[in-house]
Amino acid sequence: MAAATLCIVDALSFLEARRVVLEQVRGSRTVPTVEIIRLEEAAGRVLAEAAMADRDYPPAPRSMRDGFAVRAADLPGTLTIVGEVRAGQAVDCRVEPGEAVEIMTGASVPDGADAVVMIEHTQVAGTRVDVPKALEMGANVNPRGRDALAGSLILDAGCRMGYAEIALLASIGQAEVAVYRRPRVAILATGDELVEVDVVPEPHQIRNSNSWSLAAQVMRAGGEAVVLPVAADELETTKELIAEGLDCDLLLLSGGVSAGKYDLVETALASFGAEIYFDRVRIQPGQPCVFGQAKGTFFFGLPGNPASTMVCFEVFARAALELLGGQTEPLLAITQAQLKAAFRQKPGLTRFLPARLDAAGLVTAVGWSGSGDIAAVTRANAYLVSDPEKEEYAAGEWIGVMAR
Ligand code: AMP
Ligand code: MG
Repeated sequence: MAAATLCIVDALSFLEARRVVLEQVRGSRTVPTVEIIRLEEAAGRVLAEAAMADRDYPPAPRSMRDGFAVRAADLPGTLTIVGEVRAGQAVDCRVEPGEAVEIMTGASVPDGADAVVMIEHTQVAGTRVDVPKALEMGANVNPRGRDALAGSLILDAGCRMGYAEIALLASIGQAEVAVYRRPRVAILATGDELVEVDVVPEPHQIRNSNSWSLAAQVMRAGGEAVVLPVAADELETTKELIAEGLDCDLLLLSGGVSAGKYDLVETALASFGAEIYFDRVRIQPGQPCVFGQAKGTFFFGLPGNPASTMVCFEVFARAALELLGGQTEPLLAITQAQLKAAFRQKPGLTRFLPARLDAAGLVTAVGWSGSGDIAAVTRANAYLVSDPEKEEYAAGEWIGVMAR
């Protein structure tokens, strides 16, 4: 049997491990296949072709307020109202010295005018408008081409599309959009104790939930989940299913990566000539997390306890999936919030503990019985991310927070 090549022996810190994932996947990924989809299907997909402005934005100087288009040099003063422009109306008037044109937000500013005075800052009497205060040239006017010039780059390939990106593509007339094919992600749960969701388990059995959480996480990260049957803790079946999984773009295994006698995942992977970049990370939950490559496919061996599987996916596997899907910048959104109560830990590990961020922006760890406590994760809307070097946090102190 071929031995797995373990490149790094010691447990890595969280940031070191994350850097290894990013470097390895960035270093060897290829550009994914491109497909054309309709704009309404684009949410969550990764843009494959840069988008250019089809004309100047705005295409004509545009009023940012309801009010009067004026010449700044005339102010303060009383002006003659010579016309009106509404949004969506072609302009058919000009502003000469001493004149004003009534204008609505979004309407094109007529020639001759160089500013818009807000309606609230005027007094209208018949065909005259009095403007008591001076105004800077250009006030309340968005000049032609200020947001984008025709032909300029407005959206780079490799961005994951959300509502703002979709609005931008709609504004430049892209009813269809080129996106990268979703990466196919194989999910392989291992463990003799596991039964499927529709089976009533015996007292010594549990239902497989990791394949379900992982499939949901994969889909949320822009991948296509390929759920394989559960592998028993037996070498030959595990190898057969790993072989199937390695045909996908990424393989996620759960369970079987601890030091137990029946933790066979690394041995099974070794028979495929796997290169293992790390197999321990100083985090909790999720210490025995494996990352490597076999037959040109990256894999993660995620520890089987449900919260460990979930956290290791979010902080490591998700980045690999996003990069494989053509995304330029995988984002790990860890921000800071103030603790509602004091928090103590044994130093040494970066902890990702289920937590609640309240409406006032304060964060509290949710009580849990450990990394098997799925219900505690459902009570959390975030993870509290601790500094491995710090033993004590006082109430009100800042601590890392990652959205769930
Ligand atoms: P392992 O990492 O294989 O030692 O698994 C640790 C523990 O995680 C097991 O004892 C199970 O309680 C739990 N576990 C493992 N795999 C799954 C799974 N697919 N779904 C739910 N729980 C699991
Ligand atoms: Mg197991």
